[in-house]
Amino acid sequence: MEETRLVLLGPPACGKGTQGRLLSEAYGLSYFSTGKQLRREVEADSELGREADTYLSRTEYVPDRLALNLVSGWLAERRGGWVLDGFPRTVPQAVALDAFSEERIGGMRALLIDVEREVLAERVAQRCECSRCSWVGTLEEVRERGHCPDCGGGLNQRRDDEPEAFQKRMDVYEELSLPVVWHYEATDRLLRVSGIGSPEEVFTRVRSALSKHG
Ligand code: AMP
Repeated sequence: MEETRLVLLGPPACGKGTQGRLLSEAYGLSYFSTGKQLRREVEADSELGREADTYLSRTEYVPDRLALNLVSGWLAERRGGWVLDGFPRTVPQAVALDAFSEERIGGMRALLIDVEREVLAERVAQRCECSRCSWVGTLEEVRERGHCPDCGGGLNQRRDDEPEAFQKRMDVYEELSLPVVWHYEATDRLLRVSGIGSPEEVFTRVRSALSKHG
């Protein structure tokens, strides 16, 4: 069977991280989130992190070159299937990934998780993530547990989840990332699922979309 190679698309807080994690567990895929990696680099105060932070603090996308650097380094070390969360986010990134794929991988699909803007605004107000692993949950869960249920790490709210920053991220998404959806649609590689409901409900749809068209 051909290895699963999937890019997750969709607006901020649509559930890419949660579904990426579920996919990676269920299908044995390597998982990489560019946003998460960028935040780690900022925390570690690396050279890349310092450059990235000038964009992240303004709620802007980092330059394509920087995102590509992160992903191509990660992909070059992969054996077997993978799922990418948050990449590609612009058409030039998608074109670069296609070029990379043609040489090295092939058989890649995009999965769009669809959620309306109003629902997303409510979600981000409640969202928390682990600073160490890929766990994502709600403030309510944080109040109950205090620490990450998976690795015991500290839990944070993201600064870019504040209401104003979120609205700006949505605008940037619509301008720069919706064309990425059309890029995969035009080349007949797009799967689309509704992201409304519990993580498990959404995951059931994801599995069914993958088994029908994957
Ligand atoms: P995320 O955790 O996926 O929501 O990403 C957080 C932020 O990191 C985004 O709002 C962007 O500013 C930046 N980022 C993540 N992935 C990319 C990418 N592929 N290209 C440009 N910027 C990115």
